Amino acid sequence: MPRVTGVAATTGEILRLIREEGLHTRAELARVTGLSRPVIGQRVNELLDAGLVTESPGVSSGGRPAARLEFNGAGGTVLVASLGHTHGHLAVCDLAGTILSQGPVDVDGGPEAGIGAVLDLWGALEQGPVRGVGIAVPGASAEHEPVVAAVAERYPVPVCIDNDVNVMALGEHRLRHDVDDLLFVKASTGIGAGIVSGGRLQRGAYGSAGEIGHISVPDGLLCGCGTVGCVETVAGGAALLAQLGGRAANLPELAALARAGDLEAVAVLRDAGRRIGEVVAASINVLNPALVVLGGDLAGKNLIAGVRETVYQKAAAVATRRLRIEPSLLGDDAGLLGCATMILDHILSPGAVDAALRAAHSSQDSTPVL
Ligand SMILES: [Zn+2]
Repeated sequence: MPRVTGVAATTGEILRLIREEGLHTRAELARVTGLSRPVIGQRVNELLDAGLVTESPGVSSGGRPAARLEFNGAGGTVLVASLGHTHGHLAVCDLAGTILSQGPVDVDGGPEAGIGAVLDLWGALEQGPVRGVGIAVPGASAEHEPVVAAVAERYPVPVCIDNDVNVMALGEHRLRHDVDDLLFVKASTGIGAGIVSGGRLQRGAYGSAGEIGHISVPDGLLCGCGTVGCVETVAGGAALLAQLGGRAANLPELAALARAGDLEAVAVLRDAGRRIGEVVAASINVLNPALVVLGGDLAGKNLIAGVRETVYQKAAAVATRRLRIEPSLLGDDAGLLGCATMILDHILSPGAVDAALRAAHSSQDSTPVL
């Protein structure tokens, strides 16, 4: 655990230590931060007053039992939505990221056209004070400013928006505390990657980091992006459905065929995995991740086997010796849980919590802290 000492251990940092590092007593907090017990007591009291932390009697180990401090997941809610081009899914989560209620939403025409329906369903599901909103959209988030504006008008709280692959990478990273360097690859209609490097999501200078679906492969075709050769044109969802000659109407049907042992579907997915493996191998040489996670409609065992085959053949041995390649742990709720991670990490970051506490101190009314 990184040692956080002196002035760095603000009240927001104390919350981080309780929430993320699993410290539960004032004594542990004092030891890890090097702060005096009275200062720790003062900061913990601020968090208790703000409802961000709860305190319960601890278990005695002989002397007086030390009170146990817990992050208060019930201290508010966040609204999340994972939106595609035609349909989406949305939910209300508590501050621990647990889904309290959820439902599908029709956004035919894309996130802009469907935002009214999203706001209506959130309104129906809402419970408890809303502290923030997290949204995943297909493609570049910068193209969805009208969505943010519409949400901000209804909910005057922090709003985070990002593309679906970045959001899933964040959610996956949250589940894997031990990994700081992770490449999340989504294999679905499109192919893309979310990069977590040094513990942080990397978006690049203009937000386009991780566009591995638009890296050229030798037999790639003319792509919708205007370039010739992108791997997405031979291993993206549309290409695979075409290869199956109409035997599957959509990607869930294709995945179901493969699960049922259909040899043609298995071969198509395995080969797609090999193709995707080409660009994943190149990415591994550049980024040196400890873990590659495969998610999306197509990331079953056949596609993953194909990726493994190419990666261990083509990526640098020094990068693959201890590399793990695994399916996503997020499952069907990947987008929603990723959105919850994104907005919770934002509103519960030490800087945001300290700023919110300062604002609450200086205002006369009883504005909620977050
Ligand atoms: Zn392309």
